[in-house]
Amino acid sequence: MDLHTKLKILGAAAKYDVSCSSSGSSRRNRSSGLGNASLPGICHSWSDDGRCISLLKILFTNHCAFNCLYCVNRATADVPRATFTPDEVAQLTINFYKRNYIEGLFLSSAVYKNPNYTMELLVTTVKKLRKEYQFNGYIHLKVIPGADPLLIAEAGKYADRISVNIELPSSQGLQLLAPQKSRDSIIRPMEFIHSKILQTREERKLYKNAPLFVPAGQTTQLIVGATPDNDLKILKLSESLYNHFSLKRVYYSAYVPVTQHPNLPSIASPPLMREHRLYQADWLVRVYGFKADELLDENQPLLDTEIDPKSAWALRNLHLFPVEVNRADYEMLIRVPGIGVRSAKRIIAARRYSTIDFDILKRFGVVLKRARHFITCNGKFYGERNINELTLYQMLKPTAKQQNSTKVAGEQLTFPSLYPQLFQPEDVHTVITGEM
Ligand code: SF4
Repeated sequence: MDLHTKLKILGAAAKYDVSCSSSGSSRRNRSSGLGNASLPGICHSWSDDGRCISLLKILFTNHCAFNCLYCVNRATADVPRATFTPDEVAQLTINFYKRNYIEGLFLSSAVYKNPNYTMELLVTTVKKLRKEYQFNGYIHLKVIPGADPLLIAEAGKYADRISVNIELPSSQGLQLLAPQKSRDSIIRPMEFIHSKILQTREERKLYKNAPLFVPAGQTTQLIVGATPDNDLKILKLSESLYNHFSLKRVYYSAYVPVTQHPNLPSIASPPLMREHRLYQADWLVRVYGFKADELLDENQPLLDTEIDPKSAWALRNLHLFPVEVNRADYEMLIRVPGIGVRSAKRIIAARRYSTIDFDILKRFGVVLKRARHFITCNGKFYGERNINELTLYQMLKPTAKQQNSTKVAGEQLTFPSLYPQLFQPEDVHTVITGEM
């Protein structure tokens, strides 16, 4: 099989991994142009300093010994199969890098023969890239659940970031849909990676030149909607992963129905809005200091798909509002719907010198349409008086006009453009930055 066909198969096979996203565009070169855009293959990720970097996103192989029911690459699926060699991956990466198509590599794999055999191939590839090809760009490598810790330790010397996919939020879910995987085979490597990161940090305090171990940390991915696990369970799991293993990110992937099976849910389309709300709630836990059980509880275990989780929380806690923006502490300011981390910091800094009024809030990027119901500004309240929770809920929801708005032909495909009825203009900012 030629390299181009392998690339086509193994680039497409990698698109279900959302730890970084696929390019989303397909375009052939014109006679006067340079380069093609293809749907799978190149994806984007963000570096710690906020730069967007493009990555070659491929599987090493889609031959899989496992048979996870939700997966397009499962052993019993009738799909074209391909396997790279370590040299092929290294050469592709170097050639794309030299042509300026990519700044790094995102390398994952199905389980070829067994976890250790696959992991050895992945390690050989990244080692080759670093040592033989002197590649110094970004590498994100997937760890195969069940692989030997020695192989993971070796992988961590060469990769910037590694990730072990949790895939399903509960042991029951794994039992039902991916019986060859176990909670232990996923959590143990995460635990190991975390302890190695801490150990390396300590070593580098003593010896400046002690080798690095995954300097960009570890991440994971969770499938949403393939099992009956609710949002409370998912969010609590993410919270625990952040707290125990200092994960950089948990990525949520709406379940895409690729096959039918009695153990799989029968849904017509992926639950994208649920995925989006989980990303927002995750942001609240990770950056805003919310606890998972402040956002959801056993009586209300699912996030509201109509309004964002911060507004939903504020509506359930109206007794805490309105807060005076000239006096509230930072922790309370960022809990106000419409005030994000940056605007809260600006308010705190500015009010040392002057009294904050509504115009200043507007300049600081506060979404007053939401925030006005929850704040006073120098004693003045600009929201509606004497309204109850239900009326306020209706006011925070998208308007009928927005619900009827149609997609503009030819625009860049974005989440809000796919679901215009659910988004207000200011949500576009939320989708991109996570601020609410
Ligand atoms: S191990 Fe990975 S590639 Fe193989 S069937 Fe399961 S999810 Fe798919």
